[in-house]
Order: sequence, then structure tokens, then C-alpha cells
Amino acid sequence: MIKFTKYALVLLLVFFATSCNQEKKIQNKNLEIKTSHYIQNRAPLIEKPYLELPLGAIKPQGWLKEQLVSMKTGMTGHLDEIYPEVVGKRNGWLGGDGDGWERGPYWIDGLLPLAYILDDEELKSKVQPWIEWTLNNQQKDGYLGPIPFETPPEAEEGLQRGQRKDWWPKMVMLKILQQYYNATEDQRVITVLTNYFEYQLKELPKTPLDHDTFWANRRGGDNLQVVYWLYNITGDSNLLKLSEIIAEQTFPWTKVFLNEENYNNAFSPWHYFKMKTYPFDQNEIDVLTVSQLGGMHCVNFAQGLKQPLVYYQQSKDEKHIQATKKALKDIKHYHGQPQGMYGGDEGLHGKDPLKGVEFCSISESMFSLETMLSITGDMEYADLLEKITYNALPTQASDDFTSRQYFQAANQVELSDRGGASYQTVDHHGTDFVFGELTGYPCCTTNMHQSWPKYVQNLWYATADGGVAALLYAPSTVTMKVGNGITATITETTGFPFRDEVDFIMNVDKEGEFPFHLRIPNWTKNAVVTVNGENWNGNQENSVAKINRTWKDGDKVKIKMPMSLKVSQWYDFAVSVERGPLVYALKIEEDIKTKDRGDKYKAFQEIFPKSKWNYSLYFEDLENIASSFEVEELDWDGSYPWNLENTPIQLKGRGVPLPEWKLANGLPTFPGWWGNRRVKKKDIPFENITLVPYGATTLRITEFPVYDMRWVSWEEGKRLGGREEYEDQYN
Ligand SMILES: [Zn+2]
Repeated sequence: MIKFTKYALVLLLVFFATSCNQEKKIQNKNLEIKTSHYIQNRAPLIEKPYLELPLGAIKPQGWLKEQLVSMKTGMTGHLDEIYPEVVGKRNGWLGGDGDGWERGPYWIDGLLPLAYILDDEELKSKVQPWIEWTLNNQQKDGYLGPIPFETPPEAEEGLQRGQRKDWWPKMVMLKILQQYYNATEDQRVITVLTNYFEYQLKELPKTPLDHDTFWANRRGGDNLQVVYWLYNITGDSNLLKLSEIIAEQTFPWTKVFLNEENYNNAFSPWHYFKMKTYPFDQNEIDVLTVSQLGGMHCVNFAQGLKQPLVYYQQSKDEKHIQATKKALKDIKHYHGQPQGMYGGDEGLHGKDPLKGVEFCSISESMFSLETMLSITGDMEYADLLEKITYNALPTQASDDFTSRQYFQAANQVELSDRGGASYQTVDHHGTDFVFGELTGYPCCTTNMHQSWPKYVQNLWYATADGGVAALLYAPSTVTMKVGNGITATITETTGFPFRDEVDFIMNVDKEGEFPFHLRIPNWTKNAVVTVNGENWNGNQENSVAKINRTWKDGDKVKIKMPMSLKVSQWYDFAVSVERGPLVYALKIEEDIKTKDRGDKYKAFQEIFPKSKWNYSLYFEDLENIASSFEVEELDWDGSYPWNLENTPIQLKGRGVPLPEWKLANGLPTFPGWWGNRRVKKKDIPFENITLVPYGATTLRITEFPVYDMRWVSWEEGKRLGGREEYEDQYN
């Protein structure tokens, strides 16, 4: 116990006074810094804790660079040749009479950041015609985008020619123009967006967001955030009038997310196409929840997730924060899968691990989480973003980025056109899960490209206090302004997420003080940060270590984040094994066959299992998870890790085969009974199994039945309780 003397008290007061003064000074200094270096929100919007850096400031290294280069040599760099009927010269966003809706902009929304991150002239030259046509063909009234037809055009198979005035696809182009400015500072963007938003301000009261399709009212958050971005640059107060109109006409996500669970069907039959128009039917809105099956469109949910927080920047109403938190909890609870995503085959359809996860849902969930992270600084969003990126994302496209799945699922052991787990199976002639260019539905063929480049763009941020933040970990470098005009280049070297250490080397053009923020993931205990080899025990707040010191050229920072095995529980009491940010799945050997039915889906790959897959995990092994699986770190030179051959890590343990678990029409539907309890422990037919990172698998079991289940539930790796009196007379 500290004994206070009068003297000590005086000293303490002096200390407080000086430190307050110092803080004030630092704050003042930072006020100058943040207005000069990077775009911060302008009053009356809230101050953002983390600010986006110019496109090109962050460079991927190692396998992440390989990933982006594969995108260039694969579909992203060649979509105009692979899919010319839609993104070729006839596209309406290039002035043509062909497709004039979302798919052209979708592609550019990924191709543009890829081109500028790789600083690749060839890719930039593919982007530029889309930018030039859009900037040079704005109508006098401010209208932007494909020229509407005077009479509805003839339908053409595979093209979306009509709905040219729809507000929705323009929102994608707004995102593109924002990024283009962020890369080039081309002032034409400011003029064109100013004119377009004036047009919206005049038109929206007469022609609301959902005048042409309901998509625009569900996705109004995408429109809103670019309005705020422009406001931060120009300070035009009309933009804050427009933002209120857009918020008003957007689907009331906050209300729906906050509705108490009512366990009733909403006014039925309620389907994601219903309630499309503004003003919304309040009676229907009041009973909607995230839990209701089929009622919410999966990609709309992914985009809608950020809307409350985008608007929070202006409203400052805490309910928007609560709504988003509750939405994430509910989506996991009612529709969640272990890879961080949720089953949503168009509508949300519950937790079954056979339910499809659409590639567009992954791309848009990632973009939403990136937006939410920079607005709030809430590291829960960073944890989830890493989980999706390092589990769900790598597996949905082939390694060379030449094909992709429309849907993936946590449990998939045969990807063939006979599969029938999806709500869309009949409409898409069984092609939802196979790997192809145009299988399932082609939205994903164009919207998959934004995922990796935007993740790279969010690896680093400027902080509101004039520093730098690494909130997501991957091999990369960043060059940026910090402190009092210092140029810093930080090199991040890491085997994360397969290893638990991340190393940083700081290079500065002159010594100076500024904070360096590092995220401490929620899944680790006892993370250790060192600076030049010495333990750093400074201020850790809200899962962020803030290292504030005078930095010198060559300073080294290391963070070690110990990972431990844990069990999580999912559909029908099935369980998954996780470690750190990675989810592990059964390693299944693959047999790949190409098929071409001569139809609009073109050639695709079907994949069949070559090794046994029908294993359960043994209850007692799960109870002692730390010792029942051996973690093997394999030799790895840092090259592309997301396949069975190159995986840098695996888990060795045992499983119990369930012969009664068979494929039904290609699907591993859970058997009714999970293993015979009337087998003495010594007679249980254990077999050795290998689990590998989910993101390295193509076929997988991720949610395992539990052999000899005793009434226990696991959540967040903790055992929640069980029937303690259970006596196993068969042991
Ligand atoms: Zn899609």
C-alpha cells in the first residue's frame, strides 16, 4: 500500500499538471498533423481514429504479393477477354449499348486498386477507359453513367441492359472514383462527384433510391460514405443535406438489427425482395430480425452491416454502434459458419454447414468490416476481418485466380453438378459449388476482385494522433508521413497467420516522436511486444498497444501472439477446431475433373474426394483439446501457402470413422446418430487424421460430429457446462 504524505501528494499533482500540459501540447501538434497528412472527417462528423492512406502507399510482400500477381495473370487482369460480352467494349460504362448495370463497375472496383497497388501500367491502362468515359460523359444535369435507352432495350441472354438509371450500380462507380482520386488526386473527380451529388439532391426526393430496383435502398450506405468523403474534401454543407436524404431512404438496418428476437415469422411470406419501397411499412420493419430464414439477402446483409456506422459519423447516436454489434452476434448465432462467414444462398438460410456462402458476401463483408474498423477503431471488426480473409477468402478462388466458386460451404466433400444443397440449385442447373468462370451466378465473377486489394489497402492506417497503425497482419511495407512531417517506411515480415510473431523494422528520414498502434487480437492471451529486443509494457487500451516514443532509423518492433487450440460449437452440436485466427478442417485428397456441358456456364471443374472424409471427433479429445492434437509447423519459405501441398502448418490427431455417414446426392448431410456409445473405450476404432488450415482446403469437413457426445457445450473455446454426474460405464 502506498502511504501518501503531503509531499507525495504535491508531487503527484505536479505530475498530473505537467502530463496534462504535455497531452494538450501533443494534441495541438497533432491537430496540425492530421489536417496536413491524410483526410480526416470534417466537423460536424465524428473524428475517425484511423485514416486511409493513399492507394499505393502500402505494398504487399511475400505470399500476399504472389496472390495479387496471380490476380493480374488470372481473371482480374483478363476479365475483358474472358467475359467480353459483359465487360467488353459494348458495356454501357464505356458508352456501349450492352450491359449497363453493376458488373462492369464491380470489376473495376477490384482492378483499380490492384493496378495501383502493383503500380502496373498494363492494368492501369485497362482501368483508364472506364474512368475517362465516366468523367467525360456526365450529363448537364449531373447524371452519371450509362446513357438510358429511350425505349426499353431488347433483352439479351446474360446481359443486364435495362435499369440504366438505377441508383445502385452508380454507387459502385462512386467507390471507384474515390479510389482513383486516392491514387492520382485527379481533380476532375471532385468536380464530377460534386455535380452528381447536386443531381442526387434534386432528384432523390422525386425519385427515391428504390425507384428502379430495391438494391439501392438496401445498399445506400455505399452511396453515403462517398458523400461524406467528398464533404471532407470540399466542406460543401449541401452534402450533409444529401446524406440525410440518403440515410432516410435506405433500408432501416439499425432498426431491424436492434429488433428483439420475436421467434415469429415476420409478415409472411417475407422474402428478400419484399418491402422494396420507401417509405417502408413500419409494421413489417418492426418484426424483422436477422434470424428469419430466407428473409434477408446475403450480399445486402454484408453491405448493410456497415450502414449504421457510416451514418453514425453524422448522427453520433450510439444505437448505431449497438445495432452493428448485435447484427454480428445474431448472424453468427443464426446463420454462422466457422470460417467467419454465414450461410446465405441468396436469402439467409440458417446454420447448416452445407449452406452456400456467396463470394460477393465475402467481398462485401470484408469491405464493410474495413469501413467499420476505420470509423470506430473497434478491434472486434479487425479480428473478424482477419478470420474471413485467412479462412473463407483463399479457398473460394483457384490459386491461379482463373476460376471461382459461386458458393462455398464449411462442409463440402464433393463439388459436382449433382449437389443439391443450395436454394438456387435448380435455377443454376447444379453449378453453384463447382469451380468455373461463370458457374452459379456471374455477379461473383466480377465482384470477387475487390477482396484482396482492399485488404492490402487496410493493412496500415494513419492514426488520428499523427501516428501509424498496423491493425491487420500480413507481410507488407508502408511508406507514409507521421509525426511532424517525418517520412516513415515500415517493413512488416511475418509468417502470420501460420506463425505467431510479426516483426517490424522502422525506417525514418529523421528521428521523431509519433505513436505506433498494434492490434492485440482477442484470441491471444499474454501477447508480448518488444522494442529493440526489450519488453514494452506501455499503454494497452481496447486491444491496441500504443507505442509512443522517439523513433530512430532501424528501430525494431516485434509482437508475439501465442495461439492455443480451442473448440467451437456450431450446427446441431457439431464442433470445429480453431487456433489463433485459423480454423482447421479435415485434409481430404482431391480428384479434379473438367466438365463442359456446352451451356452458358462454360467449362468447369468438379472435385471429388480421393480419401476418407467421414470422421467424427471424440468427446474426450475435445475436452482435452490442448493435448489431443499435435501442432506441426512445417518447413516453409514464405511462398504461397493456401493449398494442401504448401500448407505451413497442420494438426495431427485422431478421429473416429462414422461408416453410417454417407454422401447423399454428393452432400455430407449429418447422420442421425453420431457414433455408438455402447463401444468400450478400448474398442473405439480410432484412426489418425490430419487437419489443415481451412483456407488451404478445397474439399473439407470443418464442422465435425462428436463421437460419444456428452451434454456439454463449448463456446469461444470455453466449456460452458455439462452433466457432471455422467458416468461412463463403458470406459
Ligand atoms: Zn455474387
